Amino acid sequence: MLANTKDVLLHAQKGKYAVGAFNVYNLETAQAAIRVAEREYQPVILALGERYFPTVDVEGFSAMVRALAAKASISVSLHLDHAYKKESIIRAIRSGFTSVMYDGSLFDIEQNIRYTKEIVEIAHMAGVSVEAEIGSLARGAFSDEEEGDGTLTDPESARQFVTETGVDFLAAAIGTVHGMYQGEPNIDLSLLKRIRQAVEVPLVLHGGSGTPDDIIKQAIQAGICKINVNTEVSMAAVSFIQNYLEAYKPVHLSTIMADMQESMEPVMTKFVRLFSNKDANIV
Ligand SMILES: [Zn+2]
Repeated sequence: MLANTKDVLLHAQKGKYAVGAFNVYNLETAQAAIRVAEREYQPVILALGERYFPTVDVEGFSAMVRALAAKASISVSLHLDHAYKKESIIRAIRSGFTSVMYDGSLFDIEQNIRYTKEIVEIAHMAGVSVEAEIGSLARGAFSDEEEGDGTLTDPESARQFVTETGVDFLAAAIGTVHGMYQGEPNIDLSLLKRIRQAVEVPLVLHGGSGTPDDIIKQAIQAGICKINVNTEVSMAAVSFIQNYLEAYKPVHLSTIMADMQESMEPVMTKFVRLFSNKDANIV
């Protein structure tokens, strides 16, 4: 069923697990994420970034995802990822998204607070929850996100930000990157623990792709409830298509799309199992 992202994340926070937020662009990516979540009995968040608004019919896309969610045996949320414009957020709210991310991380803290607070007021009137970000992720390889400067989140600023904006969940920058790491990941888990002590809302980790499993597990233990995954799934689909084309087999588009969906599912399954924290009590 379609679920409010905040409810999904508060449940995850209580249960000490994380929910995968997969970036989706079309029917196949949405179906892949929902099928994997159903097979694993886990909730899932489908995320569409503002940067795809020029090419994706937002209202049509939302209607499609909500129809798929209504049929699903697990909770499915529809999230607007990295939005910089108020009009995109209002458009997402109007078309039925269950949460929105306002990214004011490029502004200084005072401005970010002011703009985020306004978005929170609008979204909450519609029953939609809000994610925001302070600090900023650097961009690694194969990413389709904006360049960030890699500033880590300051716990005191996080406390002030959450208190003053009323935001429902917070993206913390602790050293993960958008895309694949170039060199060794340098992720500050002790900083994450300090941020956790400073704020009570569920914490979000962007940049799940390429992050070592043990770091992910420790991050979940330290309070991460939502983990965004984009690049690794995209890479699986693209390399699948590339192999198809290099084989020069005359094949119908419908076959490529169906098989491409299947090529993404093992990658999503790996993440969903890792995030579910099911083996946490097994020594
Ligand atoms: Zn992100």
